[in-house]
Amino acid sequence: MVDKGVLQTIEVVSFDYGQKHRKELTCAKSLAQVLDLRWELIDLTSFGPQLRSSLTTPHVPIPEGHYAAENMKQTVVPNRNAIFLSVAAGIAISRDLNTVAAAYHTGDHAIYPDCRPAFIDSFNRMLALATEWTPVRVQAPYIKTSKAGILKAGLKLGVPYEKTWTCYVGLDAACGRCGTCVERLEAFEENGADDPLVYSDRRYWKTVVDV
Ligand SMILES: [Zn+2]
Repeated sequence: MVDKGVLQTIEVVSFDYGQKHRKELTCAKSLAQVLDLRWELIDLTSFGPQLRSSLTTPHVPIPEGHYAAENMKQTVVPNRNAIFLSVAAGIAISRDLNTVAAAYHTGDHAIYPDCRPAFIDSFNRMLALATEWTPVRVQAPYIKTSKAGILKAGLKLGVPYEKTWTCYVGLDAACGRCGTCVERLEAFEENGADDPLVYSDRRYWKTVVDV
């Protein structure tokens, strides 16, 4: 059972920007229901096709391998987090909430500049000017934690990982070969835990990670 003690004032928003991995949206909804939290889907579907990214462009395949590899830059969605955080900040202010939380982690830093501490610091400076009368700030509590570290905390809290989604490819089963699948399987291995998701290829990750 998940500890809901600290979640009383949290509300959840997810973004539909035409991502191939839209299964994450139903998973987010399902997790919000487990926690009895308000959840809303922000419709950016007309915006997504304008973006150049393998995550939103049907004929561009999702790269396989480890996040350290150069080809993973194909998964960058231009300016994604500044867009999402701006929308979320507007919603937070409108609901008299003072914090927007986002779960970036250290594995994101290499190829996603908008997941780094410097970006969050700068974004908050911008927000302080943009929302002077109704201050709202972004917090990224896991920005200095690895995916394995977040998983460790989640396992302790009893997070139902069978209701979570990570794979970028967009099929029913997780591929096991994209950067985010590789990182997830590596994190479960580091924690000595079994990932409850079904994978098309559960062994590939070991060929691209130093173990
Ligand atoms: Zn995958």
